Amino acid sequence: MADEIRISEDRLRAAVRMLFASAGSNEREQRLVADHLVEANLRGHDSHGVGMIPAYIANFAAGEMKLNATPTVAVDTGALIVCDGGMGLGQSIAHDSVALAVERARDKGSCILSLRNSHHIGRIGHWSEQCAAAGLVSLHFVNVISDPAVAPFGGRAARIGTNPVSIGVPRRGQEPVIVDFATSKLAVGKVRVAYNKGAPVPDGVLLDAAGEPTNDPAALFEEPRGTLLPFGDHKGWGLALACELLAGALSGGGTQHHPKRRQAIVNNMFSVVVSPDAVGTTETFFPQIDAFIAWARTPLPGRDAPVLIAGEPERRVRAERIRDGVPVDGTTWDQIGAAAETVGLARATLQQAAGLA
Ligand code: NAD
Repeated sequence: MADEIRISEDRLRAAVRMLFASAGSNEREQRLVADHLVEANLRGHDSHGVGMIPAYIANFAAGEMKLNATPTVAVDTGALIVCDGGMGLGQSIAHDSVALAVERARDKGSCILSLRNSHHIGRIGHWSEQCAAAGLVSLHFVNVISDPAVAPFGGRAARIGTNPVSIGVPRRGQEPVIVDFATSKLAVGKVRVAYNKGAPVPDGVLLDAAGEPTNDPAALFEEPRGTLLPFGDHKGWGLALACELLAGALSGGGTQHHPKRRQAIVNNMFSVVVSPDAVGTTETFFPQIDAFIAWARTPLPGRDAPVLIAGEPERRVRAERIRDGVPVDGTTWDQIGAAAETVGLARATLQQAAGLA
């Protein structure tokens, strides 16, 4: 495997913008996709960062993902907005759909957003952060239509995606709480990172094609394929199922009920966005959050308190990576270079944009 490289976040953003400009994205889309992917890397979720570019560009080339698309509002009842992404680039489709829900929740106090037929919308916490930045609480349930990658609890064959959930809660004068995770024991992208690095995955995460436990990430990327397991046994499976039904069935985007039929990674999302002002508890809401978090962190006397609040680990990694640069493994960087060439951008130019030449 090629060596890991470090790229400063501004150089990495510039390289991503250049690559999507070569593919045909307008300036706004270049900025949205670069911000989203580089933020995922900065926050330690390399699985959803620039390593997704080769898949995005391949799906664009195959005509299964569109650039410069905007969501169509299919239904608008005031309290509920249904957006159709038309298989546009998820980073701009989800941004624009969530922006509509934010505007509506500010105006009416709350909004339910049902987004269907978007290409991969990346790190779901990004959408919670967009709502939290506007002072809004939000819940997001997502299903994935792609290669089934996760077995139901009790099953041994992949039947469902890694269906992520995110919940964002703004705080006064403090960074928001951002709960954001896949309902599988590991996100597929994290298994891909291990595969590209030639590293094993932890115990209890993967089954091979025969349904036996394995630590080899190849089980997810080489035939015959195995499966990931849901986190938290029946509880994670229940949450994954809820994502499938809320985001997939209710939106009209569809559930995963067959092997992969197309190259695209389709995401559907069911979101609820709420204004604490409209609930009328703003005066107590923020102090109650602070009081709870202080209490949750209170250590057993004489012991350290290693209690972290969701969103904090990502901000710690972010600070380190802003300082030291974003690590990108050599295999992933090679794949990004190959993707750049397919849209007419020379590797040398990409290297230069990334500050590596
Ligand atoms: P993860 O297992 O790293 O969990 C992350 C969550 O746990 C965050 O909220 C984080 O703040 C919190 N956390 C981590 N360590 C903690 C600690 N010690 N104490 C308290 N909280 C802690 O996440 P994951 O399951 O690997 O998911 C990675 C990313 O993949 C997410 O951003 C998710 O949205 C994304 N994803 C996207 C898709 C898609 O189809 N678009 C599918 C699956 C996952």
